[in-house]
Amino acid sequence: VLKVDDLRTSFFVGKSEVKAVDGVSFEVPKGKTLGIVGESGSGKSITALSILNLIEKPGEIKGGSIKYKGEELVNAKISRMRKIRGNEISMIFQEPMTSLNPVYTIGDQLSEVIKIHQKFGPKKQKERAIEMLKLVGIPSPEKRMKQYPYELSGGMRQRVMIAIALACKPELLISDEPTTALDVTIQAQILELIKELQEEIGMSVIMITHDLGVVAETCDYVAVMYAGRVVEYADVYTLFENPKHPYTVGLLNSLP
Ligand code: ATP
Ligand code: MG
Repeated sequence: VLKVDDLRTSFFVGKSEVKAVDGVSFEVPKGKTLGIVGESGSGKSITALSILNLIEKPGEIKGGSIKYKGEELVNAKISRMRKIRGNEISMIFQEPMTSLNPVYTIGDQLSEVIKIHQKFGPKKQKERAIEMLKLVGIPSPEKRMKQYPYELSGGMRQRVMIAIALACKPELLISDEPTTALDVTIQAQILELIKELQEEIGMSVIMITHDLGVVAETCDYVAVMYAGRVVEYADVYTLFENPKHPYTVGLLNSLP
C-alpha cells in the first residue's frame, strides 16, 4: 500500500545541512506491519513525518519517492495531503503535534470522527466512543466524555488522540512511539486495538518503536535505521534469527 524509495530529507541549521533521512527505502504491503527501529536521532520520526509532508520548515524533502496506492505523495498538493491525512493515513505522534480542540468535549470530538468514518446512529456513536476510551485506558470514560481537553492530564490527552486516530479507521496507521510514556497494560491494549483493526479492515501499519518485544509481537517486516539510513531490512524472523548489521546484532544482544 506504501512504497518509499530513496527518500531524503534535510534540515538546514545555519548554513550546514543535516541529512536527517538519507536515502531510505521500504515497502508496507496491505494489511501488514512494518516496524522501524533505530537509535535516537536515526531519522525514524522524520521519515514518518515526511510521508505526510508534515516536516516543519526548515525541513525539506530533497528527493526520492513516496507512493501511496500508486500515487506520488512527494510534492503532492496541500489540499490533497489534507484529504489523505486522517482519512486514509492516520498518524499518532511521539510528541503531540496536533492537539485536541479546546472548545469541544472529548465525547463530541471522538463521536464526530466516528460519525464521519463509520455509519453509526447517534446512540451507537456514543457507545463506540466510550468503548474506545476504555480500550485506550481512560478510566470512567462516561464522565470523561463530558469533559474538555484542559480537564485531562497530558497522558490522557495522548490516549484520546490515539482513540481518535484509530476511530478514523485509516488504511495506513503510522504509530510513532505514542505509548512510550504509557504503562504496559495500556500499551498492550492499544496494540490489541490496532490488531483488531488490521483484521477488520486490513489496515496497514508503520510501527516506530524502541521495544523489540513489540516488534516480535506485531511486525511482519522490520527496517533498522542508523544515521538516516536503513541499514537492515528483513522480515521479522530473518531479523531475529540472522541479524547482519552490527547495530542490529548489538540491539538483539541487549535483550535479556
Ligand atoms: P528518537 O528515537 O529520539 O525519536 P528519531 O529516530 O525519531 O529519534 P528524528 O526525530 O527523525 O530521530 O531526527 C533525525 C535527525 O534529524 C536528528 O539528527 C535530529 O537532530 C534532526 N532533526 C530533527 N528535527 C529537526 C529540526 N527541526 N531541525 C534540525 N534538525 C532536526
Ligand atoms: Mg522519534
